[in-house]
Amino acid sequence: YSTVRTHLHRRVGAELHQTHLDWGYREFTIPAVDRPEALHVWPGRRGLVVAHPNPDGSLTGTVFLPFDGDTGFLGLRDPARAGAFLAEEFGDLTDLVPDLVTQFLAHEPGSLVSVRTAPWQHDRVVLIGDAAHAVLPFYGQGMNAAFEDCAVLDACLAEHAPGDALAAFEARRRPHTDVLAELSARNFVELRDRVRSPVFLARKRIDLALGRLLPGWRTLYAMISHSSLPYGDALARARRQDRLLGGLAGLAGLGGVALLAAARRKRSGRC
Ligand SMILES: Cc1cc2nc3c(=O)[nH]c(=O)nc-3n(C[C@H](O)[C@H](O)[C@H](O)COP(=O)(O)OP(=O)(O)OC[C@H]3O[C@@H](n4cnc5c(N)ncnc54)[C@H](O)[C@@H]3O)c2cc1C
Repeated sequence: YSTVRTHLHRRVGAELHQTHLDWGYREFTIPAVDRPEALHVWPGRRGLVVAHPNPDGSLTGTVFLPFDGDTGFLGLRDPARAGAFLAEEFGDLTDLVPDLVTQFLAHEPGSLVSVRTAPWQHDRVVLIGDAAHAVLPFYGQGMNAAFEDCAVLDACLAEHAPGDALAAFEARRRPHTDVLAELSARNFVELRDRVRSPVFLARKRIDLALGRLLPGWRTLYAMISHSSLPYGDALARARRQDRLLGGLAGLAGLGGVALLAAARRKRSGRC
């Protein structure tokens, strides 16, 4: 809801798309845990909890649920119902956080808004961060993207004449934040629905194993979260790796079929 964006758009013909997800979120604190360095995920059937580590060893947990319905934020305003739902859906979380229900009911749920807008700049004013490209928080990259904006803007100011630098920044940066918006929406579906699928988990394990075995093979998550490779370049590289993985799986399948056919021929006495 940037005020600068509102003023900027009064001066230029602008596009603004705000999308509100029908899910919201509430945050709570998990006291110090054994593995504070990791991102923790509780994928429920009707909701999702993720927790990020804090420097003091505690975690900040976020419960994501639909706003509506019996098991959404609106239906869970009563402590007994909220407690029963959280225990049923997120198992050990209630043991880890003794006052989970109190924390859960302490605040109004926050909404999840994504913003796509153009242009980002006019004259000597430029938008960066969420004002230019708020994304859903499911890749945990919104703040990082804002910092990357600063680095790219800094480079554009150094490389271009003052009159061209802001337009150059928008042209260079937008394709990558558009990719982040797409990945963030995709990760919502992945965390919510697919993390419990054995096939999906097996594929993730293969991807991780290849990352350890092959120099130069990196998972998309690692490229996005643990490198400064621009988002679009990371996605393009991950797609190349996927095609290779698909090709290898195809070759392994063909090899298996050939072996099976050879074994059958041997059994029936033909060669
Ligand atoms: C649930 C959730 C989880 C998230 N998790 C992550 C994560 O794990 N990792 C990550 O990188 N990102 C995460 N994000 C995204 C991250 O919070 C944002 O992308 C980031 O805060 C954007 O920074 P910003 O400076 O652009 O905007 P903001 O942080 O919104 O800062 C804008 C500031 O401007 C102030 N302001 C507004 N209007 C005015 C005015 N008129 N005058 C003066 N001041 C004004 C506001 O008070 C605010 O302090 C998450 C977001 C959500 C909602």
